[in-house]
Formats: sequence, structure tokens, C-alpha cells
Amino acid sequence: MSTLSLLISETEIATIVQTLAQRIDQDYCGESITAIAILKGSFIFCADLVRALKTPINRIEFISLASYGAQTKSSGQVMITNALAPNLIRGQNILVIEDIIDTGLSLSALWPQLQSQGPRSVKIVTLLDKPSRRQHAISVDYIGRSIADYFVVGYGLDFDQKYRQLPAIYGREP
Ligand code: 5GP
Ligand code: MG
Repeated sequence: MSTLSLLISETEIATIVQTLAQRIDQDYCGESITAIAILKGSFIFCADLVRALKTPINRIEFISLASYGAQTKSSGQVMITNALAPNLIRGQNILVIEDIIDTGLSLSALWPQLQSQGPRSVKIVTLLDKPSRRQHAISVDYIGRSIADYFVVGYGLDFDQKYRQLPAIYGREP
């Protein structure tokens, strides 16, 4: 039986989301964006972030990047399971919404694919970052909170598909 210890409370998450939204609003100065949320982990963060943004959103898309399994370490293989049609990217300000960046493998696989489709700009927002685990360099525009090398669950993040429903973020001890 694993233990969960509270890492980021609901209230703290709300503050982090508001702060991110303000920074994003300032940068886009009212220009519209296309939001691309990476499933499944970012579904709750995306729902909260888009409601906190004043920046107009043309479109919200969801894509799946899987480096999966019932493991707490990434498998090293990334599958983009539902690529977007190029006309959804061309000329758009793309804001990629991610739950957590770990090795950077997922986003470094997605990045060239987005860039090859002629976006006006691409920025990345992540709720959480584990900088000590980075193996693939990527430039992240907005980071909600950097954390140590914990495996975290809750607020959309799973372990073996469980715990996504928890309203706060917990470290999971094996
Ligand atoms: P990366 O490709 O950067 O190594 O991993 C990114 C993805 O792995 C995240 O978007 C997330 O889906 C998953 N991941 C990385 N660290 C954690 C974690 O601590 N908890 C959970 N639930 N998923 C994680
Ligand atoms: Mg993710």
C-alpha cells in the first residue's frame, strides 16, 4: 500500500494558476491563441487555466503523447497518437499546456512536429517541472512550480490511471 503526502494544496494550485494566467495575458497582449493540451494529465490544469485567461482562445485541442505503463519512470518511447491537422497550426500562436515536465522527452518529440507546420509562435506552459530529471533540452516559457524528484499524483496526474480526481497534488511514496 503506497502513501500519499500532500505537496501542493488546492489553494496553492489556484494561486499558481492565477499567476501563470496573468503572465500569459501580459505576454500575448490580447492576441488570440490556440491552446493544445496534452492528455491525459493536463485535463484539469487546462480547464482551470483557460478559465483564468483573458487572452482570447481561438480553439482548444487535445493531443495524446504516451510514454506509458504502470511505472514511475518514463519508458523512453513517445507516441503521438492523434496528430493535429496542419491547418490548425499554421499562422497560429500555439500555447502547449502540459501537466509536468520530467525528462523533457515528450515535449522535445512534439516540438519539431509543431514547428514544421508554420505556427506564428509556440510557447509552453507547464504546471510542474522536475528540472533535476531533464535529459532533453527544451525551452519552457511558463513554469508553475519546480519540484524535486518526487513522483506526484492528483489534479489530473495519475499513477496507473488512478488518483487523477484528487483536487491537490501529492507525492507518492512506493
Ligand atoms: P517527460 O517526457 O518530460 O519525461 O515526461 C512527461 C510526462 O510524463 C508528463 O507529462 C506526465 O504525463 C508524465 N510524468 C512525469 N513525471 C510525472 C509524475 O511525477 N507524476 C505523474 N503522474 N506523471 C508524470
Ligand atoms: Mg503530461
